[in-house]
Amino acid sequence: MNVYDGQRIAAMLEKHGLTQTNNVEDADIIILNTCAVRAKATDKVYSALGRIRRAKKENALLGIVGCVARESGADAFKRIPELNFVLGPQSYHKLPEILKNPDTKLLNIDMSGLEKFDELPQMTKSPLVAYIPIQEGCNHCCTYCIVPYTRGRELSRPFDDVIADTINAAKTGAIEICFLGQNVNGYKYTDENGKLYKLSDLIRETAKLPEIHRIRFTSSYPTEMSDDLIEIFGKEPKLLPFLNMPIQSGSPRILKKMNRPDDIDAYKTIVNKLKSVRGDIQISSDFIVGFPDESDEDFEQTLQIAREIKYINSYSFKYSPRPHTAAALMPNQISEQIKSVRLQRLDLQLNENQREFNMSCIGKEMVCLFEGNDKTGKHLVFRTPYMQQCIVEKPDHEITPLQKIKITDANKSCLRGEIIK
Ligand code: SAH
Repeated sequence: MNVYDGQRIAAMLEKHGLTQTNNVEDADIIILNTCAVRAKATDKVYSALGRIRRAKKENALLGIVGCVARESGADAFKRIPELNFVLGPQSYHKLPEILKNPDTKLLNIDMSGLEKFDELPQMTKSPLVAYIPIQEGCNHCCTYCIVPYTRGRELSRPFDDVIADTINAAKTGAIEICFLGQNVNGYKYTDENGKLYKLSDLIRETAKLPEIHRIRFTSSYPTEMSDDLIEIFGKEPKLLPFLNMPIQSGSPRILKKMNRPDDIDAYKTIVNKLKSVRGDIQISSDFIVGFPDESDEDFEQTLQIAREIKYINSYSFKYSPRPHTAAALMPNQISEQIKSVRLQRLDLQLNENQREFNMSCIGKEMVCLFEGNDKTGKHLVFRTPYMQQCIVEKPDHEITPLQKIKITDANKSCLRGEIIK
């Protein structure tokens, strides 16, 4: 979501005649697009601001947008007096106001809903992977999560608006569409005639576009995996055989405290249904270790589920107490030391799953999407349908963005392959 917001911010400022630079010393305006989901992310923003305010040109504008802006509000100006603007995730379309009035302090952390989507200028060129937000905010209220506070309550964008963005992306260079939302598979939009549209409808409509070859979506909430959505994995080959469906913990007792779906069997039933319609599907998850009151037995259940589902490409985090969340006030907070040991043990398991899956790809042929050059300039980097990185020798002929690649080698973190002409 932040990558998408960053692209929109860059496009908006380019319309105002600015160009991008990676050098703080050269910049006339410096924007930190921020994440507040864990304390570490927020801390990084303030340490970066400390560095930047010393390095920047004297009259360069400096500001933060996104969730840290929303969380800090006017306090941000007190902490960093050099700040010129603080704009929340739903008000960054107001950014041009600071260009018009550079001597003011611009603060806007309103939760104005979907207004920004109407006000942002349409993108004129799409990256190969187009991120298309379809809903914003979340109503689930997991007790550890700051998102309902920073991104607000759940709102789904009108079906026609999403399709218009998708068509625009397809006509201006996109090959892959990634639908975005904090609760993406909870997308529900009812039009003026009372017709209900769901994520499966968006996928079906998008798959009709000849320019689009790959479709995916993130992030999913397990119990929002409705049967229509599961079935479309079996019907629509453009939908990639890879799904991020976070379970967070393998312990029903902890899941209840997290205010997450706590029926592990129901979760496994969804995975099995997906496998039965799409035999080659792989699942990834996000995990939190060291949630308040998590015992050794609870944690063992998390290891157990990671082994059992054989998740690939997963993310794992130490629980981080966040403002405005219920879990931050819960008793029996777990020590950093125990969290670190548990994270290490979980990562061993997740890395093993990943290595095993990557090795199983050797010898297979996969259609992969071009991502860029590697650091040496001698290789090209592609993404497989499972979002694995695949590195190939740079060929002496032109390539197209989609290439059939034969996987020749693998390790824990990436694949190697050869382009099949
Ligand atoms: N559904 C959300 C999740 C974003 S946060 C979205 O798409 O915006 C991504 C992951 O961060 C979560 O799945 C969870 O595993 C982790 N996370 C969220 N809050 C956390 C916290 N307080 N401490 C540690 N990890 C957290």
